[in-house]
Amino acid sequence: MTIDRKFHWMDLPYHILIGKELISNLSSILDKLNIPIDEISFFTGPNIYTKIFSRYLSKELISRPTYIVNEATWRQIEVLERKLYDDIRFIIGFGGGKTIDVAKFIAFRNKIEFISIPTAPSHDGIASQFASIKDKHRAYSYKVKPPYVVLVDLDIIVKAPKRLISSGVGDALAKFTAVADWRLAHEEKGEYYGEYAANLALLGARLVSKYSRGIGEGDEESIRTLVEALISDGVAAGIAGSSRPCSGSEHLFSHALDLYASKHALHGEQVGVGTILMSYLHDMDWRYIRQRLSDAGSPINYKDLGIPKDDIINAIIYAKRVRPERYTILHKLNITRSYAVEIAEKTMVI
Ligand SMILES: [Zn+2]
Repeated sequence: MTIDRKFHWMDLPYHILIGKELISNLSSILDKLNIPIDEISFFTGPNIYTKIFSRYLSKELISRPTYIVNEATWRQIEVLERKLYDDIRFIIGFGGGKTIDVAKFIAFRNKIEFISIPTAPSHDGIASQFASIKDKHRAYSYKVKPPYVVLVDLDIIVKAPKRLISSGVGDALAKFTAVADWRLAHEEKGEYYGEYAANLALLGARLVSKYSRGIGEGDEESIRTLVEALISDGVAAGIAGSSRPCSGSEHLFSHALDLYASKHALHGEQVGVGTILMSYLHDMDWRYIRQRLSDAGSPINYKDLGIPKDDIINAIIYAKRVRPERYTILHKLNITRSYAVEIAEKTMVI
């Protein structure tokens, strides 16, 4: 496929709707978007199904084929794909991160349009062209297609569990170090770097920093800014044609925890602490990032994460092995065990 080398391909969502009372008006919104209700199916999580799905949606919508997503794994995808009806042309992922990932992936594999309706702003998969799916050992990020429609109901998002909201802050602030790593790879390895995409991701990180306290306090306008930042992160990845503006050494640290640690926290929580550590290595203002995470109620150390100190140290050392081809500050520096301890102690992560 040499054609891909000649063009820079930007894959973006087609419609993005953010507002109030969107879920209770979903039938008429679908109608306006020319999406026939008898061609849709829903993917949702078990909790969301009882708490939101069956309470807020009209009878007509509830009667459509609905698949319950319990985990974002290959096993789950194979089970659900076997049950998929042939006449489905639109898949609506209605729920948290796992639901969105599985629905997005199945839609792509079956050449069906995907509609993203997140119920929590926990990570940047809301509008991105990537789906994170686990095999036996760890999650892999697959490049699929961005959603055809992203629909965010603020009434629902604001009521999401606090932990999921503060986790989203970690994933949004991660762009500070992700962009620094991307720049480094450009300067030292000649990798493609898109200034526009990089700045879009940084803009989101800056605004979420500015509103971090409000997000922690559950203020609606502040949480709206977080959602918009996570959506534009997906758009930044679409413009870049890769996850580079959104995912750097801080994500490798989180992936290493997934692989090697005895306990785990949420994606955005691990990534947030990774951002503190990696911003120290980049010689950035790590104290500022730490404070903003703290303002939002996000974890800032091993205790908050519930992950043993040793696992944190091992993840710092082994993170670069997770993706050797993705050049970051961790690949540039020689991270010995004693250096890893020093980094974690100086940033007060351990
Ligand atoms: Zn992420």
